[in-house]
Amino acid sequence: LSFHQLGLSDELLGAVADSGYSDPTDIQRQAIPLVLMGKDVVGVAQTGTGKTASFVLPMIDILSQGRSRARMPRSLIIAPTRELADQVAQNFEKYGKNSKLSMALLIGGVSFGDQDKALAKGVDVLIATPGRLLDQFERGKILLSGVDILVIDEADRMLDMGFIPDVERICGLLGRNRQTLLFSATMPPPIKKLADKFMSSPKQIEV
Ligand code: AMP
Repeated sequence: LSFHQLGLSDELLGAVADSGYSDPTDIQRQAIPLVLMGKDVVGVAQTGTGKTASFVLPMIDILSQGRSRARMPRSLIIAPTRELADQVAQNFEKYGKNSKLSMALLIGGVSFGDQDKALAKGVDVLIATPGRLLDQFERGKILLSGVDILVIDEADRMLDMGFIPDVERICGLLGRNRQTLLFSATMPPPIKKLADKFMSSPKQIEV
């Protein structure tokens, strides 16, 4: 399958072509059509497989329909570290350059002032580390009930870092009617449990 056969918009295919990619990677071939169909997906994939674009690309197309609401992000990506969150943000910037999606990055080290302004205006894409997200939630700066798509990236690293209780708390704050995508290099029992508890009939793909 080529990029053109995955169901992505022409606009997005232009941004993909500008990135210099000729063919989708295995995880992209498998995940993109499922995400576009609105399915919950568990992607068992390491970094380096192109997994980030496998959720960023379809999310840009889905979110391009609809508009942002003050304080209510429409999608949320949680990542274990600042560096990973930043990489995800760079992917949204690169592939989303032709879309009008707004984005905020909630990670330690960025001043609350800048983040508050972006959140108050409303963002389509919120990328965060779990602790910082919960801080902002407790400060009353965000409502999580409007999140239509949740991505849990590098779930096994979240487990290693002791973040699963935070992730569970975050999942509990979201509305039930949402699409959930979970990526992990491995599927140890606590991650399987997390998927069972917070995802609905997920399709599991492995590369
Ligand atoms: P990731 O697994 O998301 O960390 O991506 C690993 C690297 O692969 C990144 O540097 C991407 O820019 C690159 N990449 C993603 N998709 C493709 C593709 N379809 N063809 C070639 N490189 C890609």
